[in-house]
Amino acid sequence: MKIILTRNINYYTPYIKHTSHGVLLQPLKADTVSFSANRKERNYETALTNIPKLPCPCCGKIMIPENVFERPLVKNYDVSAVEVLRALKKYETQMHKPERDVYRRLEKLSKKYPELTLQQLFNKKRYYHLANTEIKQLKVLSKIENTDFNLSPESQAKLNNALKNTRQIMFLEEKKTQEKRRRMIREFIELQNSCPEKKEMKQILLMIQELPSSRNDIDSFFVKYAYLDSEALAFKLLESSKASIEHIRAASDSGADKASNYLVMCRQCNNTRSSMPYETFISLHPEMIKNCQKYMDRIIDYLNKKHLFGLEDYPYLIQKQLLDETDGLIDMDVSKYKMPYGVTKIKQFRM
Ligand SMILES: [Zn+2]
Repeated sequence: MKIILTRNINYYTPYIKHTSHGVLLQPLKADTVSFSANRKERNYETALTNIPKLPCPCCGKIMIPENVFERPLVKNYDVSAVEVLRALKKYETQMHKPERDVYRRLEKLSKKYPELTLQQLFNKKRYYHLANTEIKQLKVLSKIENTDFNLSPESQAKLNNALKNTRQIMFLEEKKTQEKRRRMIREFIELQNSCPEKKEMKQILLMIQELPSSRNDIDSFFVKYAYLDSEALAFKLLESSKASIEHIRAASDSGADKASNYLVMCRQCNNTRSSMPYETFISLHPEMIKNCQKYMDRIIDYLNKKHLFGLEDYPYLIQKQLLDETDGLIDMDVSKYKMPYGVTKIKQFRM
């Protein structure tokens, strides 16, 4: 089987194409992977994502450097969850919601059941959280069911059918919980495509998005990840805070795989932005303007103390790139930067 890696990926475009045999294609969010960056740019990526105490330019939270994920947190994961959670303690303030809530819940549980491993704790509480998740899902479905939409009889029948299918996904396939939310929403995307009442369908689609997700709901998090082993679970609590490379101009919009187009962003914000234009993104996250300066201040502080070969002009390049891409909304102050001795001229915009 031949596999082709495609460029110009965007949110709903599968990144792997199998040229023979039908295989389910996995969509990939743009900007999470870049295929064409050469080794030099890869080294820059590594240098940037490992800068300690770097605030995310979007949410402002201090990110967890990439190298934390390259070594085990504890020597052995077949020990009491108490020990694993102790190793995670120093990252607690860096965790996002719901990971931090999950972490605190686990801390309490581990005191109650000190003999259990992290995986065993997850499994012990899985059915409790599954029941909670299902209650929340049913609330969303009955809210749709009890709203009077202005639909033709045909569309109403299709809506009833989508609701019925969604309930089946909920209750009949208990084991494949990871895919459930996505599949439930897909029912309503198909409904939207087959009904002429666009305004109502948009409203229904917004309502179904309220289904709890592992990204914002502690119960769904427990349910979704209960099948992972203890090590994977421990890292899962840190993953959304991990420092990752974000393309200022999205890769899907011919953004360059170069340090001059790189911002380091926490994975959660990176996924949220995807390939959204900056103008839209900043209107949804106005705190980004202030947090970008915090990001730059830390970069400058770090570069002033430590020479990063090849990244001497990074503050200037990023200042210009963000200024251009945000139509002047983000204009960072780089006046505190002292160029290292011996670097006489900024390599003008390598993009
Ligand atoms: Zn962030």
